Amino acid sequence: MVSYKELGLVNTRAMFAAAVKGGYAIPAFNFNTMEQMQAIVQAAVETKSPVIMQVSKGARNYANATILRYMAQGAVEYAKELGCAHPEIVLHLDHGDSFELCKDCIDMGFSSVMIDGSALPYEENIALTKKVVEYAHKYDVTVEAELGVLAGVEDEVASEVSHYTKPEEVIDFATRTGCDSLAISIGTSHGAYKFKPEQCTRDPKTGRLVPPPLAFDVLHEIEKKLPGFPIVLHGSSSVPQEEVDTINAYGGKLPDAVGIPEEQLREASKSAVCKINIDSDSRLAMTAAVRKYLAENPSHFDPRQYLKPARDNMKKMYIHKIVDVLGSDNKLLQK
Ligand SMILES: [Zn+2]
Repeated sequence: MVSYKELGLVNTRAMFAAAVKGGYAIPAFNFNTMEQMQAIVQAAVETKSPVIMQVSKGARNYANATILRYMAQGAVEYAKELGCAHPEIVLHLDHGDSFELCKDCIDMGFSSVMIDGSALPYEENIALTKKVVEYAHKYDVTVEAELGVLAGVEDEVASEVSHYTKPEEVIDFATRTGCDSLAISIGTSHGAYKFKPEQCTRDPKTGRLVPPPLAFDVLHEIEKKLPGFPIVLHGSSSVPQEEVDTINAYGGKLPDAVGIPEEQLREASKSAVCKINIDSDSRLAMTAAVRKYLAENPSHFDPRQYLKPARDNMKKMYIHKIVDVLGSDNKLLQK
């Protein structure tokens, strides 16, 4: 058993309370590789932002959970080396699907876990979430739960259609499970193809898809039921069209990739939404930079040559999200 506290990580409790009160959101960036980890830490340190580094099932399969845990520990030390005296870094399990997995992660030093029982019948979701909360709270680890189903594909989490969270269920669910935050479904979606063209309209000038707006009425109703309770948005990449264009210009094929407009995420950040998950945007930033570099430098073969611009491009994207979208810059609780 390793406590996250020994690794210099923090849980989400204090940062979420401050974010809800301050009208901003904490970025939750997924990571699989060293370059992503470096870019996340550099961006968080330069903007003086708290940050959640999260690990999905796909990340654990790709990189191995133990390696990712050591990388998160390394992230804390790296942040200090970059001049941040008190880094506020959370290591979070994204979409945990069983009690055993959540327990494993807590025991190896994760400071926060998500138990995703959203596909289960309501009472089973409550029972599973409650079991995880009881174990996690013994070690001061925070727990994110989910009510409602998001559409889209994220690693091995996939659903054809979304079901909005029912506001009438949230008080009962939060009270009986004791969860620390709640992921809700209000129209965000996993992946780089968040909406089918038939769900969207098309901008007549650019020909690009315009997605349907998020269900802010549902969000506000949930906020009224649970005042001050931390709300989480999954599937909230904006799928920057300049990255999609770069990928397509250098041999890629991502027609009609579309995400959540950043103005809507900015608006959500000002509400009880205090954690916004961003994964696809990092994948797009990395792939765009690698494709461009390799196309322009066909004789290069040293991975460091193309991974450096990839890392720089991801860092630029992370900083933009922190400063211009979520507003978590200069929000470290301990200066
Ligand atoms: Zn998710």
